[in-house]
Amino acid sequence: MRQVPQRTCVGCRGTFPQKQLLRIAAKGPGGVSLDLTQKMPGRGAYLCYSEECLEKAKKRQSLQRALRCPLPEIIWIEIDQAVKSAHKREE
Ligand SMILES: [Zn+2]
Repeated sequence: MRQVPQRTCVGCRGTFPQKQLLRIAAKGPGGVSLDLTQKMPGRGAYLCYSEECLEKAKKRQSLQRALRCPLPEIIWIEIDQAVKSAHKREE
Protein backbone atom coordinates (compact mmCIF):
# COMPACT_ATOMS: atom_id res chain seq x y z
CA MET A 1 0.00 0.00 0.00
CA ARG A 2 1.23 3.43 -0.91
CA GLN A 3 1.79 5.78 1.99
CA VAL A 4 -0.20 8.99 1.84
CA PRO A 5 1.75 11.92 3.30
CA GLN A 6 0.17 13.08 6.52
CA ARG A 7 0.31 16.65 7.78
CA THR A 8 -0.83 18.37 10.94
CA CYS A 9 -3.45 21.10 10.87
CA VAL A 10 -2.29 24.12 12.88
CA GLY A 11 -5.88 24.74 13.97
CA CYS A 12 -7.13 21.44 15.42
CA ARG A 13 -3.74 19.67 15.59
CA GLY A 14 -5.25 16.70 13.80
CA THR A 15 -3.33 14.79 11.13
CA PHE A 16 -4.83 14.44 7.68
CA PRO A 17 -3.71 13.45 4.19
CA GLN A 18 -1.76 16.39 2.78
CA LYS A 19 -4.15 16.82 -0.16
CA GLN A 20 -7.08 17.53 2.17
CA LEU A 21 -5.31 20.49 3.72
CA LEU A 22 -4.60 24.03 2.69
CA ARG A 23 -0.88 24.80 2.52
CA ILE A 24 0.53 28.16 3.48
CA ALA A 25 4.15 28.70 2.42
CA ALA A 26 6.71 31.17 3.76
CA LYS A 27 9.60 32.20 1.56
CA GLY A 28 11.11 34.62 4.03
CA PRO A 29 10.06 37.84 5.72
CA GLY A 30 6.87 39.14 4.18
CA GLY A 31 6.84 36.37 1.61
CA VAL A 32 3.89 34.39 2.85
CA SER A 33 1.44 33.03 0.33
CA LEU A 34 -1.26 30.45 -0.09
CA ASP A 35 0.14 27.41 -1.82
CA LEU A 36 -2.74 25.82 -3.65
CA THR A 37 -0.39 23.62 -5.68
CA GLN A 38 1.35 22.38 -2.49
CA LYS A 39 4.63 22.58 -4.38
CA MET A 40 6.04 25.94 -3.37
CA PRO A 41 9.48 25.93 -1.82
CA GLY A 42 9.94 27.18 1.70
CA ARG A 43 8.54 26.40 5.09
CA GLY A 44 4.96 25.22 4.96
CA ALA A 45 2.09 25.10 7.41
CA TYR A 46 -1.17 23.25 6.93
CA LEU A 47 -4.75 24.06 7.79
CA CYS A 48 -8.05 22.22 7.30
CA TYR A 49 -10.56 23.75 4.93
CA SER A 50 -12.57 24.66 8.00
CA GLU A 51 -13.62 28.01 9.43
CA GLU A 52 -13.31 26.54 12.89
CA CYS A 53 -9.64 25.64 12.37
CA LEU A 54 -9.02 29.00 10.76
CA GLU A 55 -10.40 30.77 13.84
CA LYS A 56 -8.35 28.60 16.18
CA ALA A 57 -5.17 29.21 14.22
CA LYS A 58 -5.88 32.94 14.25
CA LYS A 59 -6.51 33.09 17.99
CA ARG A 60 -3.51 30.98 18.95
CA GLN A 61 -1.23 32.53 16.33
CA SER A 62 -0.32 28.97 15.36
CA LEU A 63 0.36 29.84 11.74
CA GLN A 64 2.85 32.54 12.70
CA ARG A 65 4.54 30.06 15.01
CA ALA A 66 4.61 27.26 12.46
CA LEU A 67 6.00 29.53 9.75
CA ARG A 68 8.25 31.47 12.15
CA CYS A 69 7.34 34.79 10.61
CA PRO A 70 4.58 37.39 10.91
CA LEU A 71 1.56 37.01 8.68
CA PRO A 72 0.25 39.89 6.59
CA GLU A 73 -3.46 40.58 7.11
CA ILE A 74 -4.16 39.82 3.44
CA ILE A 75 -3.20 36.18 4.01
CA TRP A 76 -6.06 35.72 6.47
CA ILE A 77 -8.46 37.12 3.90
CA GLU A 78 -7.09 34.77 1.23
CA ILE A 79 -7.32 31.76 3.56
CA ASP A 80 -10.87 32.74 4.50
CA GLN A 81 -11.84 32.91 0.83
CA ALA A 82 -10.17 29.58 0.04
CA VAL A 83 -12.02 27.91 2.92
CA LYS A 84 -15.35 29.39 1.84
CA SER A 85 -14.94 28.49 -1.82
CA ALA A 86 -13.96 24.92 -0.83
CA HIS A 87 -17.24 24.64 1.04
CA LYS A 88 -19.18 25.95 -1.92
CA ARG A 89 -17.64 23.23 -4.09
CA GLU A 90 -18.87 20.58 -1.68
CA GLU A 91 -22.47 21.77 -1.76
ZN1 LIG B 1 -8.04 21.36 11.47
